[in-house]
Amino acid sequence: MIYFDHNATTAIHPEVLQEMIPFLSEQQGNPASNHKFGRRAQTAIEEAREKVAFSVNAHPSQVIFTASGTESNNTIINGIAQSYPETHFAYSAIEHPCISEPIKSLSRRGFVATKIPVNNQGLLDLENIKNDAKNPISFLSIMMANNETGVIQDLSKIIKWAKKKEMIVHTDAVQALGKIPVDFEMLEVDAMTISSHKIYGPQGVAALIINKKIDMSPFIIGGGQEKGLRSGTENIAAIIGFGKACERTKENMVIIKRDIKPLQTILIVELKKMGAIIFGENSVRLNNTIFFAFNRIDGTTLLTALDRKGFALASGSACSSNNNEPSHVLMAMGVNQEIAQGAIRISLGINSKKTDVETFLVALKSELERLKQLTAIAA
Ligand code: PLP
Repeated sequence: MIYFDHNATTAIHPEVLQEMIPFLSEQQGNPASNHKFGRRAQTAIEEAREKVAFSVNAHPSQVIFTASGTESNNTIINGIAQSYPETHFAYSAIEHPCISEPIKSLSRRGFVATKIPVNNQGLLDLENIKNDAKNPISFLSIMMANNETGVIQDLSKIIKWAKKKEMIVHTDAVQALGKIPVDFEMLEVDAMTISSHKIYGPQGVAALIINKKIDMSPFIIGGGQEKGLRSGTENIAAIIGFGKACERTKENMVIIKRDIKPLQTILIVELKKMGAIIFGENSVRLNNTIFFAFNRIDGTTLLTALDRKGFALASGSACSSNNNEPSHVLMAMGVNQEIAQGAIRISLGINSKKTDVETFLVALKSELERLKQLTAIAA
């Protein structure tokens, strides 16, 4: 199998696994326990916290470990809602469902929520925000890079705009970390989400980075771990792995820029020769992601055919690949529904090879021919 679905999840890097093994195979101790085992676990967690903080230029005290990017996003949204009951939530139309769904759920409970449109290149449309003067937006969540198109937002411009209006700003940097520079302090956001399994770390661990000036109520309450902001015994081995994966993000960025970007270029050129439409083509995008479609070729059918031939791709967001609805991201970008039904995503990883790309292009070409013939017969 050739794996081209790295925006969905990545395999654990061998160096990451190596650091995790002692915490999986020996007595780990509960970090809350007052004995040698407990202290060792606590120290290891704090070392991992430093590595995570360093990778995004934040202070270790700003890092809260959670179990997933989804949990981090739910934590900030629900935590803000509890602390500030008058919050007016705003989010872009292309956010991951783990941002849009918790906000929609709050709006059903009476909170005001605004969905901000994007233009046809997937970029946030600040000019078209309806910001009610009587109830102005007070919390804004904008992703750094989109998981489907790879489009990178002009976050500094957006944050400058939002800060002038005194909004609390959160960014979902899950797809950005390890692919482009992510700097919590420089961006001046109040909160940020990152997730381990997108950066060659284990699944089941993530972080919410939060500016301590934000008075966020905890979402999960209990034993008071993570300074009371996320209770539950820590997933020690996963946290250790996440720390190591964060330590590797700089190296990954070099690989992506040096080795993976040229593969992306080859793919774009060849896909276009075959007649593909590339979504967000005129925007600055992640160097590993290509989201495309062929006219009159159903995405799921092509995806299944390619899967049978040994290629793992996605038809959109990993979490929604089980439903047949066209991508909400493409709908927000104004893409014709029939074209959107054909959408396929390639997301390359640090180990993707030129030969993988070449083999894939040959297989794609023959599958396209076959499907076109079938379509012609059906018509
Ligand atoms: N945010 C973005 C942009 C994502 O792409 C994803 C996962 O695909 C998530 C959040 C959710 O992260 P997790 O899988 O860690 O829950």
